Amino acid sequence: MFNKQLDELAARHLTRRLTPLHSGVGPIVEMAGRQILLFASNDYLGLAMHPEVIQAAVGATQRFGAGAGAARLVSGSLPPHQELEVALAQFKGTEATLTYGSGYLANIGTIPTLIERGGLILADRLCHASLIDGCRLSAADFRIYRHNDTEHLRTLLAARRQTRRILIVTDGLFSMDGDLAPLPELNRLAQEYEADLYIDDAHGTGVMGPHGRGTVEHFGLDTQIPLQMGTLGKAIGSSGAYIAGPSTLIQYLLNTSRSFIFTTAPPPSSAAAATAAIRIIQREPERRARLWANRTRLFTGLTQMGFSLSPSVSPIMPILVGNAETALSFAEHLLAEGIYAPAIRPPTVPDATSRIRVTVTSEHTASHIDQALAAFQRAGQSAGLI
Ligand SMILES: *Cc1c(COP(=O)(O)O)cnc(C)c1O
Repeated sequence: MFNKQLDELAARHLTRRLTPLHSGVGPIVEMAGRQILLFASNDYLGLAMHPEVIQAAVGATQRFGAGAGAARLVSGSLPPHQELEVALAQFKGTEATLTYGSGYLANIGTIPTLIERGGLILADRLCHASLIDGCRLSAADFRIYRHNDTEHLRTLLAARRQTRRILIVTDGLFSMDGDLAPLPELNRLAQEYEADLYIDDAHGTGVMGPHGRGTVEHFGLDTQIPLQMGTLGKAIGSSGAYIAGPSTLIQYLLNTSRSFIFTTAPPPSSAAAATAAIRIIQREPERRARLWANRTRLFTGLTQMGFSLSPSVSPIMPILVGNAETALSFAEHLLAEGIYAPAIRPPTVPDATSRIRVTVTSEHTASHIDQALAAFQRAGQSAGLI
């Protein structure tokens, strides 16, 4: 079944395969029967394997069970979910938050309720797939603006002045490029054209800003942007997602958002783990300091070798390769040298922009990074990239 389609993918070097991992995500993992240095996870602060986070998950499982039993509006809302939403609101500095089972669910379940028929959605071309799917699920018109191109966005806004409601949708920190959205300009445009801004801060949460509150904090816009979405499966080391904003917005979503209403609540363990992780993020700013120092070491090394990197300003540092076949052989070479950094190909990224997506965490040591740099140099030379 579907052999022809699979053959077609293979011919274009676009087949995807699961790579078995035999240990939890950390700087060193067990893969293919070997110890491998991992430069691929989004667990930027090393919290997925943190003993306190794990203990919180175990404790919640023992008290409240392995599963939540039903949707929160059906069987009741358990303390771990309640506590997480309070902790998140305090962390984000908003009146309230609502949590979802994943970032994908949050995006597809909120965007359609935020903007309805007759409205217009304008989304960045490099928005995450879950945002695009959320936009497609809305009955509003949907247009794409060129990546981070506020002039293009202004043109589209100006052309549609009479539209009743407009929602501008963007990643805060772009997942496959590691660059930031120009939030101050987007916010100004939103105000000028009376549009709303929807920021997905999956990769910014815990990472960006003086307190790790995300890209909105990084730009000093905390008091100006009413709604933010973020996830709990990246720097927060658990799984799930949140919408943070005014209580009325949260009440509205609780009443209308289908991917909140019609799905079983996340397991108590993941909510409790996320709460524990948020406390650690607030208590241990040194984790963020280590992350940024590691980011500088790796970024500087890769740049000095002459790699062509995306305009990254974050722990996501993609090496631009171009075609999918070269990206794959680059990744294979790295793996043979004991380094795992994945080849990212279309449709995750636009055609002819295949890349090696390198991420770094607070848990890598200088020696891990130097080992990786040596391997990148050899793999880059053999691929003819440097
Ligand atoms: C990972 C990611 C998501 C999806 O979040 P999950 O919790 O993994 O479903 C959404 N948006 C962006 C920008 C992401 O990087």
